[in-house]
Amino acid sequence: MSQQDDIEYQLDTLAIRTGHTRTFEGEHSEPIFLTSSFVCESAADAAAKFSGQIEGNTYSRYTNPTVQAFEKRLAVLDGAEAAVATSSGMAGVHAITLAYLKAGDHVVCSRAVFGSIISLFEKYVIKFGVEVTFVDLEDLDGWKKAVRPNTRLLFIETPSNPLAQVGDIQAIADIAHAQGALFAVDNTFCTPVLQQPLKFGADLIVYSSTKYIDGQGRALGGAVVGSAKLMEEITGVIRTLGNSLSPFNAWIFLKGLETLSLRMKAHCASAQKLAEWLDAHPKVEKVYYAGLPNHAGHELAKKQQSGFGGVVSFVVKGEREGAWTVIDNTRFLSITSNLGDVKSTITHPATTSHGRMSAEAKQAAGISEGLIRVSVGLEDIDDIIRDISRGLDLI
Ligand SMILES: *Cc1c(COP(=O)(O)O)cnc(C)c1O
Repeated sequence: MSQQDDIEYQLDTLAIRTGHTRTFEGEHSEPIFLTSSFVCESAADAAAKFSGQIEGNTYSRYTNPTVQAFEKRLAVLDGAEAAVATSSGMAGVHAITLAYLKAGDHVVCSRAVFGSIISLFEKYVIKFGVEVTFVDLEDLDGWKKAVRPNTRLLFIETPSNPLAQVGDIQAIADIAHAQGALFAVDNTFCTPVLQQPLKFGADLIVYSSTKYIDGQGRALGGAVVGSAKLMEEITGVIRTLGNSLSPFNAWIFLKGLETLSLRMKAHCASAQKLAEWLDAHPKVEKVYYAGLPNHAGHELAKKQQSGFGGVVSFVVKGEREGAWTVIDNTRFLSITSNLGDVKSTITHPATTSHGRMSAEAKQAAGISEGLIRVSVGLEDIDDIIRDISRGLDLI
């Protein structure tokens, strides 16, 4: 796609064609620039590049063509001006805190965010004099009440993990902006294929590309997406800290974006089937999937998402013993906490991802002993259902 092309292409075309400028070799697939530095033509050329007078690569902690291709492609899919790739999803969240918070500031964060994000705020960011209040994702009144004159950042993940709570992006953006605060959305579960948070007023999007963007469980990485202006400071932080994305991982994610749309549709279709099957099963007490009309976030998810995602959680009878029976009687589902993979994965949140929480905190967060989370992969859905049914029949 040439720079001059003024046609408005659809997402599926952009995901395959954006970001790569063909080199003089005429390569068809995007090349991996595995090089730590770049050679200048002369001392004057080096001086001009290092001073920023002319654009050009100098060192891969700053820029790398493969990483830039991934950044451009991801930004376009989100309808954003810019993206900055990071060495992991957590590196992206960390960059947001370093770029936009200082001593004396206050953050309001959803209680239902990825566990390491809670630790980042509670254990580390707090050391630098930044206060954090955690609120219930769905409680808009709670968000309004938590905001203070010194609030600088609101942070959510929607739909949440593992209970698929849905946050109202537009409403929380309005609360943030009334206070002059930034609003960041972790869009790892939906990806730009299913949800584009900037359209509903978010300022920043953060991704763990380790999940669906890779799609085959190979590499760690992430990105922050937003306006060119907001990305300036994030770029500065990443270049200085050095948690930049490796060109090899960038290439994996770049190729992942090409099939992301097809994969997300397939994940959604299978997850919907599994959720409906579980919902009708006598050994299942509750199913958490926003694609079910009885789910509290169903209508809101329909408004801001174009699909309900690939993660289904459910509570089985028999508490921990029941849940472990289901998990241990699967034959091919992987007992691993990664998600967004073509391979289906199954976990028991109460003793793994949420195992460090106190019993009271788990109860408050709805992480019961009978809860199981499945990231529905792309194996045949009837085989997936049979694998899960084996243990259910034994409870
Ligand atoms: C995995 C994950 C992260 C953290 O990403 P890493 O790549 O593991 O650092 C953040 N948010 C969500 C929703 C995740 O699933």
